Amino acid sequence: MDESFDYLVLGGGSAGVASARRAAKYGKRVALVEASRLGGTCVNVGCVPKKIMWSAASLAEAMHDAEGYGFGGLAPELDFAKLKAGRDEYVRFLNEVYRRNLEGEGVVRVPGYGRFVAPNVLDVSGRRLAAPHVLVATGGEPWVPDLPGKELAITSDGFFDLEALPKSAVVVGAGYIGVELAGIFAALGTRVTLVMRADAPLRGFDRTLREALVEHLQAAGIGLERNVLVTRVGEREGRRAVHLDDGRVLDPADVVLFATGRRAKTAGLGLENVGIRLDDAGHVATDEFQATNVPGHYAVGDVTGRVPLTPVAIAAGRRLADRLFGGEPEARLDYENVPTVVFSHPPIGTVGLPEDVARARYGDAVKVYERRFTSLHYALTPYKPKTTVKLVVVGADERVVGIHVIGLGADEMIQGFAVALKMGARKMDLDRTVAIHPTGAEELVTLR
Ligand code: FAD
Ligand code: NDP
Repeated sequence: MDESFDYLVLGGGSAGVASARRAAKYGKRVALVEASRLGGTCVNVGCVPKKIMWSAASLAEAMHDAEGYGFGGLAPELDFAKLKAGRDEYVRFLNEVYRRNLEGEGVVRVPGYGRFVAPNVLDVSGRRLAAPHVLVATGGEPWVPDLPGKELAITSDGFFDLEALPKSAVVVGAGYIGVELAGIFAALGTRVTLVMRADAPLRGFDRTLREALVEHLQAAGIGLERNVLVTRVGEREGRRAVHLDDGRVLDPADVVLFATGRRAKTAGLGLENVGIRLDDAGHVATDEFQATNVPGHYAVGDVTGRVPLTPVAIAAGRRLADRLFGGEPEARLDYENVPTVVFSHPPIGTVGLPEDVARARYGDAVKVYERRFTSLHYALTPYKPKTTVKLVVVGADERVVGIHVIGLGADEMIQGFAVALKMGARKMDLDRTVAIHPTGAEELVTLR
């Protein structure tokens, strides 16, 4: 006999957990199926352990900077095993917090791999669960091009399994993950080469950010291989050698890490038993209300391929529950102007349109304000990286449509400015706001 619920959620990551808890808050009977550890990618092999590693890398940089301030005798030696143990322990703590939160909310947890056997019916290890509303929130996984020797390489998942800091690494792919992990490796002391098929990292970001990032990566000693493709990975004396399409072979490295994008996790879900349609890139196709083509079936988060970020997955999952169970028939997430941070060294904070996209959309009505400066933090250090801030504005009233920052503190700076942009701020609104001195953020309200 089927066990009946009001809402079935397949996947206990950012999207699934948020949506399940919100539905339970409305008094609904909810079951959440999770095959692995609660919290999904973000908690286990994404944002959380990555940010811990980024913080470790930032501390290493700070210890370098400290010398200029008169601190002597700092010999930053990393106990990698201790760092990993602490990080793993923190992730386990979060797994437990997630479990407690779900149980506190009355969500029925169903550990195991879920698969559709019919519309509205999931099978989990022989257990049948049914509900009039079913959410697919199965997320994504790393994707590696089909090259000879690809099994010699790791992905971001493997990065979090490393038991020791490699002496050398080649990172292939220069999107979010490639840039972040290359930066962490380098700051902790690994010799890094970053290989990309474009002329600059972070395709789709504002050009000024991309060019500034190239300078920062080079200043950090990261070797850049641009406009090249990897053809295969070979093995030499126990190390990995990356072959490029221009015929060169890179110096063998301890680790080769592919960060060449992610794919939706849809295989084996039995979507064909329901008739749920995928888009050309293999994501579950959804409309603006997260509905699939089959009534009563929805998808949220990375599996939909729409702005694959944790806060987006959480917000969309909650809005869906508000719409289905909370008496808010129009609730849906607005995917425009989502702020984002790349935890590079230094970090990038950005919201709204890159300059080229704004020009394509608004033509000559676009104006740009930009400044490059050295943060006061570096007043006493020999190394003086620049911060770049940029505003993209449109029309006679100079409505702000893009805010882009790369530099110390950009990660914590952008959230508040994103509120202003979302509210329709004009350049004069920023100008009217009294600056906070001495900060990097003040440059955004004093641009001329
Ligand atoms: P997931 O979190 O992937 O959850 C899906 C869950 O479904 C998984 O737990 C999986 O085990 C489960 N599942 C799949 N199939 C089944 C099945 N058949 N039965 C049962 N369970 C199943 N985003 C940010 O906003 N900030 C960051 O700093 C950031 N850093 C990142 C760093 C890395 C290295 C990576 C890889 C990602 C990062 N992200 C970051 C992206 C973020 O992790 C994802 O956008 C987010 O986790 C998506 O949530 P989700 O619920 O859609 O999918
Ligand atoms: P991205 O899409 O950001 O980057 C993929 C990279 O791989 C690009 O440089 C791309 O090149 C390259 N690439 C793709 N296919 C090939 C190929 N066949 N050969 C060579 N290079 C290839 O994906 P990520 O996996 O880095 O990140 C996935 C998502 O996770 C991000 O979009 C982001 O939403 C999320 N994320 C968020 C983070 C954050 O918020 N800080 C951190 C990490 C991940 P090209 O540019 O030329 O297409």
